[in-house]
Amino acid sequence: MRLSPAEVQETASFYAHFRLLDDHEAAPAAVLRRCTGPACSMRPLDLGALPDGVMVEDVPCTGLCDHAPVALAGKVPVRRADAAKVARALAEPYSPPMPSGESFPVLDRCLSGELPRDEALTELERAGLRGMGGAGFPTARKWRSVAAQPGPRLVVVNADEGEPGTFKDRWFLENHAAQVLEGALIAAWAVEADEVYLYLRDEYADLHKGLATLIRDLPGDITIHLRRGAGAYVCGEESALIESLEGKRGLPRQRPPYVAEVGLFGRPTLVNNVETLYWVSRLLAEGAELFGNEGRNGHHGLRTYSVSGRVKEPGVKIAPNGITVSELIDEFCGGMEDGHVLAAYLPGGASGGFLPARLQPPLAFGAIEEHGGFIGSAAVVVFSQADDLRAVALNLARFFAHESCGQCTPCRVGTAKSVGLLAGPAWDRDLLDDLAGVMRDASICGLGQAAPNVWQSLFRHFPEVVT
Ligand code: SF4
Repeated sequence: MRLSPAEVQETASFYAHFRLLDDHEAAPAAVLRRCTGPACSMRPLDLGALPDGVMVEDVPCTGLCDHAPVALAGKVPVRRADAAKVARALAEPYSPPMPSGESFPVLDRCLSGELPRDEALTELERAGLRGMGGAGFPTARKWRSVAAQPGPRLVVVNADEGEPGTFKDRWFLENHAAQVLEGALIAAWAVEADEVYLYLRDEYADLHKGLATLIRDLPGDITIHLRRGAGAYVCGEESALIESLEGKRGLPRQRPPYVAEVGLFGRPTLVNNVETLYWVSRLLAEGAELFGNEGRNGHHGLRTYSVSGRVKEPGVKIAPNGITVSELIDEFCGGMEDGHVLAAYLPGGASGGFLPARLQPPLAFGAIEEHGGFIGSAAVVVFSQADDLRAVALNLARFFAHESCGQCTPCRVGTAKSVGLLAGPAWDRDLLDDLAGVMRDASICGLGQAAPNVWQSLFRHFPEVVT
C-alpha cells in the first residue's frame, strides 16, 4: 500500500485490538477479553486455569450487559460466562449467527416511485423520529440538510455503540438486520447517495459474516461497504468514525465544517445510527401512527432501552418513550433482583451521570438535564444497596481515561487526573469541580465534556457517599 512503517504504526497503535509485535515475538494463540463494564463488574468472572498461550485482557464494555458476566473468546461472545463455557468457546469451532434475508417492501416502493421522497420525509417528521445514537437530532431535518449539499454524497451507518451499558444496536443487528439495512438503503435513496459504509464495532465481530451475506444479496444499485472497527470507543463519535473509515487514527474533528458538509472522503455525509434506521424502515412501512399512540409522562413515541444491572430480566426493552425507571423495572424487567432495592441508576450509560432512586424523571430526551444528566442512547444501568457507587465511579473514570483519544489536553490530562483523585480516600470537591469546569468548557468532543458527569452527579445527588 506504499505506506511507511511509521504511518502504519501511527494508526495501528491507536486501536486496542491491533497488536504490535516485536521482531520474533509470536502472536498469542488466542485472546480472551473479559468485560469490565458496569453490569459485568457486579458479577466478577473467575476464568480458572486457561490453556497455554491464551492472552487475557480486561476490556471496556463489550455490549452484552444483559448477559453479564461476559467474555469474548476471540470473536466468540460467551454469555453468562463461567470457566467451563470459556474453555468450550476457546476449544470448539464457532458458527456465527446468520440473519435471514427478507423482502424490502418499503425500499421497493421508494425505488418504484410509489413513495415520493417528500412524502417519506414528512412521514418521519410526523412520527418525530430522532437520532437514537444519543444526540437526538431530528432525522428528517438531518436528511434534508445533507440532500441540500452538492453531490456526490455518502451515507454512513454507525454500528459502533460503545457507551458502557448500551447493547441495543447489537440486538437490532442480531434480530432485525434486514430492516436496518433497508433503512440504510432508504436513507441513501433519500439523499441520493450511491454508496453506504457500515462501521461495525469489532466487539461484534461475530455478526460480521451474517451481515456480509445479507449485504451481498441486497437488491438495487446502492453499494454497502462493511467495515470493522478495532476497539476504540471514541470512534462512536461521528467525525472520529469517519477518520477511522478513512484509515486513520479515530480523532474527532473540530467543527465546523460539519460532516453533513465535509464528511467521509471530503464528501457531504449522512451519518445515522443502527436503531434510527430500523425505525425508518418500520415507520415507513406502518406509518407514523406506530409512534402516535405511544408515549408516557408527556412524551411521545416508542424508545429502546438497554436495561442491565440489578433487575430480574435485563435486556433490550422497547417501551413507551418517557417511562420512568421504576415503571420500566416493574413493567418490563420483572422487578428488582430478589433482595435488592433500587438505590441509583445511570439513565444514559457512563456519560449520563448517576440519579438516585427518589428522582424519577421521564426517560426521554430533554427530561434528565435539569438533574444534571442526559439520556443519550438510553442505557439504563440499575444499582442497589449492594453496590458501591464510588467504586463504580472510579471504574467509569478509568474507562474514560483509557478511551480518551489524547488529542486535547483538558480531556487527555483531565481524565487521567480524575482517576487519581477518585481513587483517593477522600474526594476533593473543589479540585474536582475545577477539573470538571475545564473539561466541559475546553474539550473538543463529548467524551471529555461528559466524563465529569461521573463524579459531579455523585456530589449532587449522593453527598453522603462522597464526603
Ligand atoms: Fe479526544 Fe477527549 Fe479531546 Fe474528544 S475530548 S477529542 S476524546 S482528547
